[in-house]
Amino acid sequence: MRPTIVHAMSVSAGPQTTRRALRADLLDFVGDPGLGAPDPTAVRHRPDHWLLIDDGRVVDALPGAQPPGDDWAREEHRGRLLLPGLIDTHVHSVQLDVIASYGAELLDWLERYTFPAERRHGDAEHAQAQAEAFVDALLAHGSTAAVVFPSVHATSVDALFGAARRRGMRLIAGKVLMDRHAPDDLRDDVARARSDSETLIARWHGVDRLAYAMTPRFAATSTPGQLAMAGALLQRHAGLYMQTHVAENRAEVAWIAKLFPEARSYLDVYHRHGLLNERAVLAHGIWLDDADRQVLADTGAQIAHSPSSNLFLGSGLFDWQAMADAGAEVSLASDVGGGTSLSMIRTMADAYRVQALRGVRLSAFKALHAATRGAAQALQLDHEVGSLEPGRIADVTVWDWAVGNVATPRDTLARDLHERLFAWMMLGDERNLVTTLVAGRTQYRRRSGDSGASETQHGFAAAA
Ligand SMILES: [Zn+2]
Repeated sequence: MRPTIVHAMSVSAGPQTTRRALRADLLDFVGDPGLGAPDPTAVRHRPDHWLLIDDGRVVDALPGAQPPGDDWAREEHRGRLLLPGLIDTHVHSVQLDVIASYGAELLDWLERYTFPAERRHGDAEHAQAQAEAFVDALLAHGSTAAVVFPSVHATSVDALFGAARRRGMRLIAGKVLMDRHAPDDLRDDVARARSDSETLIARWHGVDRLAYAMTPRFAATSTPGQLAMAGALLQRHAGLYMQTHVAENRAEVAWIAKLFPEARSYLDVYHRHGLLNERAVLAHGIWLDDADRQVLADTGAQIAHSPSSNLFLGSGLFDWQAMADAGAEVSLASDVGGGTSLSMIRTMADAYRVQALRGVRLSAFKALHAATRGAAQALQLDHEVGSLEPGRIADVTVWDWAVGNVATPRDTLARDLHERLFAWMMLGDERNLVTTLVAGRTQYRRRSGDSGASETQHGFAAAA
């Protein structure tokens, strides 16, 4: 079923051009704004400008009063905010069914909600339908790139990569590795996990904008033999990513200490199996110490901070300041289904609340940086995504600064850019999203005159 295409704006060029120009307030980053008082020199704000996109890439920007020629398909979004596509560095594609499940902490939550939902992804038809729905949901929340956990089943990996590839997305994922402490029908073993991983790497790694990640769920659900296998594959295949969970919950940390008495810490379990490098993405990292943070800084591994999930599951308050002091990388993540929204705006607002409880001020600049350029740098992908720099692939989102009769008057009272962006971050969500472009093609557009209704645009390119 193809969605109806709703033309919410005028497009002035013929159907042949691959050149598009979007007029809006352009905002991206040229540096790291840092924690604490926002550093305005890290921010590039170009109010009322045209962003020029040619053949799927950003090529230039022009002042609003100097529109490009008639060979550009022009779209008016005057008075709206245009950002690079948002990057969600940790999310589970197979957990949409269990989002907002009541009354559990991590280990109980896995048992009661997560494993039953993931079991259903052994069925190829279910996996396919869920993967399509998941990537469309990402795009309808303004996330154009993601680091994703599917399930242990190869079917779930094929379905996810296939759905992302059809939409031209940057996506990093891999088969979940789990050979102990999981239900019988969700466990693999070292030999099968190795051969499944090799097959999937050959099929997907480096294809279009896809990259494969070795994906041990967490140290408790992989034997030392399986962790060593994952480390060996990371060595063998250039450019592979690694994703896992670390130090999310205190009961979990105590369990890992019992399972790996030889390790100095939970993080050290991964380090000693060769799993930490500059393409390693570890979710949570709440219960780390200074030595751990130094290891993260030294190896270049990043923490995918997941504040919505941490608040929802009562896991703890992430120490962003200590990470920054150590020089370790932090990106932002929804961690759905532990997190309660795919919206990276809501995730930023939750990150602000977590830091407020620690007595740290998280500026809107720093939060947005961590979901755009900062995440791209931490993933070694800033040559491709995360900013509006000429040459970057045109993953772009356009937002209303405010929606509704509380946010709108608040927006008009904002005295400077940071105040305005902060109110957007605290009051906004996916209803503010107007359109999402992936590699210059429209993949989501809000229905005309409506806030909150969704319209996925799979297969539709407004000007191509
Ligand atoms: Zn997770």
